[in-house]
Amino acid sequence: RLDHAHKTALGLVRAHDVIAHEDLKIRNMSKAPAPKPAPDRPGTFLPNGAAAKAGLNKSIHDAGWGVFLTILHAKAESAGREVIAVDPRNTSRTCPECGHCAKANRPTQEKFHCVACDHTAHADTVAATNVLRAGLVRRHANPA
Ligand SMILES: [Zn+2]
Repeated sequence: RLDHAHKTALGLVRAHDVIAHEDLKIRNMSKAPAPKPAPDRPGTFLPNGAAAKAGLNKSIHDAGWGVFLTILHAKAESAGREVIAVDPRNTSRTCPECGHCAKANRPTQEKFHCVACDHTAHADTVAATNVLRAGLVRRHANPA
């Protein structure tokens, strides 16, 4: 796993001058979502995606995402590349075409469909585009 992380980080550092990623400290993926009270049945709770989120937490922990980022930052520094952590909030809800930000833009985990301009894409592609743009904005606002 660690070997894979080193190889992946090296590949990214060789191929890109600037790498942007979500700031995990802000994202705080490990925090369990708050239960939603069921309005018609006091004392009971609606499903809130906690199980799905727990699965995602597990996969992130299994992949050692924090370890990977540490390796990536070290390799990037020694190669003179830039790695920029950005605020992940709304990266998966904001339309890269028109800028409209809404929860309704994400009908499913995988799908992005802008309710304002009808732009459709895979949600991961949308998030990656927004993270990169945010990273480039930060870079220009705060040049090394
Ligand atoms: Zn749009």
